[in-house]
Amino acid sequence: MSRSECIRRAKETVESRRAEAVARWEQRVAEVSSVCPEFAEADRRLRVTGPKIIAASLGKGTEGSGTAVEEIRREYEELSAKRRAALKANGYPEDWCDVKYSCAKCSDSGYVGIEICDCLRREIAKNFLAESGLYELTKKQTFETFSLDYYEKDDRIRMKQNVEILSRFASEFRPDQSDSFLFLGATGLGKTHLSSAAARAVIAKGYYVVYESAQDLFSSYETRRFGQSSTVGEDEGDIDRFLDCDLLIVDDLGAEITNKFTVSCLYNLINARLIRHKPTIISTNLNAKELRERYADRIASRLFGEYSPLLFSGHDIREQKLRRNTAK
Ligand SMILES: [Zn+2]
Repeated sequence: MSRSECIRRAKETVESRRAEAVARWEQRVAEVSSVCPEFAEADRRLRVTGPKIIAASLGKGTEGSGTAVEEIRREYEELSAKRRAALKANGYPEDWCDVKYSCAKCSDSGYVGIEICDCLRREIAKNFLAESGLYELTKKQTFETFSLDYYEKDDRIRMKQNVEILSRFASEFRPDQSDSFLFLGATGLGKTHLSSAAARAVIAKGYYVVYESAQDLFSSYETRRFGQSSTVGEDEGDIDRFLDCDLLIVDDLGAEITNKFTVSCLYNLINARLIRHKPTIISTNLNAKELRERYADRIASRLFGEYSPLLFSGHDIREQKLRRNTAK
């Protein structure tokens, strides 16, 4: 699902809530009207009076319109009171026939004035998360669950700084201004944990994040190149989202089989995102020398020149956990 598709579906969800709220309201009005003629009469007249107020307000400024608005308003309030009284007399709560929206702030329209309402923002974030490539496995990998207990001395100081830098990055995230990062360090030092923590935090702010392993990223390019997109999942060949997303996270660069094609894809992707000022996080087990050898200078110089490097150091956490568990 592309970014615009995620947004379109979120709007549909919010609109359907509105439609449901209105349908529920109409059903209640019909039910009560069938047993209570006073209510039916007051309600029928109210439906005429509402638009009258608007029409009279629009004609404001013309002679005598102020009094007209006042009169219609008074009539409206009287009818509302009659309707409430009729409900009460028949054993219903007074607000029984009010429209009950799921979001009182925007009446399920998704907007407050011209601003996007939080309810729509949450729906968009939900779709973005589903599409982000963050898997079940990384669900618990948040800043809160990241433990410094596995790091000692200088490593711990460094990792504490990394966590601080990335939490700040996520909380102050701006798709056109935030930095790009290069995570350097061996396997099992928390690179995936911190990148998925950053991804979740940025998604929660309503931004479109794509999280992909280098291997899957390049296979999407291969799919596009060989035009196999009709034989595989339709989104697999969708490489536009790598360019479009607010934050792209490429996990484990170097784990893929590198060839001329993947190198040129990587170069174009890094370059295009830099030109658009779009932040990217790339993590790799390779060191600077290996990066240069594998991806040529033009990529390495972009990564070391334009990305902020974050060093991950310590002893493999998975091994430590394994040792602790077997020692128990
Ligand atoms: Zn809302």
